[in-house]
Amino acid sequence: MDHRAETQRAQGALAMLRCAHRFPGITRAEAAARLGLSSGSAADIMSRLRQARLLAEAPAPQTGGRGRPTTALVPHPEGPLVAVVDISHATWTVTTAAIGGTLAPAAAHRHLGLPAETVLPSVRDALAALHGPRLRAVAVAIPGTVHGHTLVEATNLRWRGVDLRALTDLPLAVGNDASLAGVAEALRGAARDASVALHLTVEVGVGGVLIVDGRPVLGASGAGGEFGHLPFGDPARHCPCGAWGCWDLEVDGRAMARHAGRRAPADPRAYAERTIAAARSGDPDAVAACRATATALGRGIGALLNAVDPAVVTLGGLGADLLSVAAPALHAGVRRGAMAWRRDDLPPVLPAALGSTGPAIGAAESAMALVLTEQTVKV
Ligand SMILES: [Zn+2]
Repeated sequence: MDHRAETQRAQGALAMLRCAHRFPGITRAEAAARLGLSSGSAADIMSRLRQARLLAEAPAPQTGGRGRPTTALVPHPEGPLVAVVDISHATWTVTTAAIGGTLAPAAAHRHLGLPAETVLPSVRDALAALHGPRLRAVAVAIPGTVHGHTLVEATNLRWRGVDLRALTDLPLAVGNDASLAGVAEALRGAARDASVALHLTVEVGVGGVLIVDGRPVLGASGAGGEFGHLPFGDPARHCPCGAWGCWDLEVDGRAMARHAGRRAPADPRAYAERTIAAARSGDPDAVAACRATATALGRGIGALLNAVDPAVVTLGGLGADLLSVAAPALHAGVRRGAMAWRRDDLPPVLPAALGSTGPAIGAAESAMALVLTEQTVKV
């Protein structure tokens, strides 16, 4: 076969592989239609992908009864895997995902208050235990500012300047947890198919990402998306990041404690959870604290609508809880922050669909992006 035909076949195989990953359970007929392939070409590509142990086929459930039976594209039982490390403010997990993005179950290990030097060797050991010919890439989701493979700063974990390259010798992607959750929502969650989506996660402070056509906009060095450090707060208030007046300080447990006339809580995430639970059971002080915090969250969202004009906004973490417990305050905040001409046609503000698994699902996507390349299908 000449070189050009070979290149076309490799591109067709890669497109089919990406299609099977993007749309788990898609049938061969649907994939062929989506990719503009004849059924003969699709069968030829599938036989190649099966031989390369990348995809397999399973009987597809019959719909209707008309048309010839078709098969669903599924991961090959010996196919590639990626490892996903999800480090949250209090726990870490290591798991794997196959083509299609489904995460294997994983046990959570607590690390609250421990330094990186103590935690990361255990993570490295857990990754080493997964090593084998099927494991092709690793991705890490972490709650902090990421630059390349380095965690610049995670104020919440009190980790700073941590090089995560030491975790593995495999191809590695490292991402901020809120950004990865946004990628997951845009590909597989509440913002699926939106051309431009804004995702915000509130935990301690607020992080997020703008997603355009399924891809995160992370800036020149990958450190963008620090929406919590926009000056939507009180300019007299100093943020741990070094700036003044950050939005972070208005939307989480620290703000709730201030509204209740209390001192800054040691664990703002836990304080916020307790306040939201108390608000749900009708405690008037907790309701007032949640409303004030939801309004501040809404005002910032309104300002961001002016700046980036998303088709949908998704809220994760405490943001989703504030939306459920204080929706009118949050929406009123959005309206007050948005320019008047926008108010008749505001985009929907929705709770994230993937919950706390969002960062890991997004990390699996970034690791799988390192695997689904022409190199992989060159067989
Ligand atoms: Zn700040």
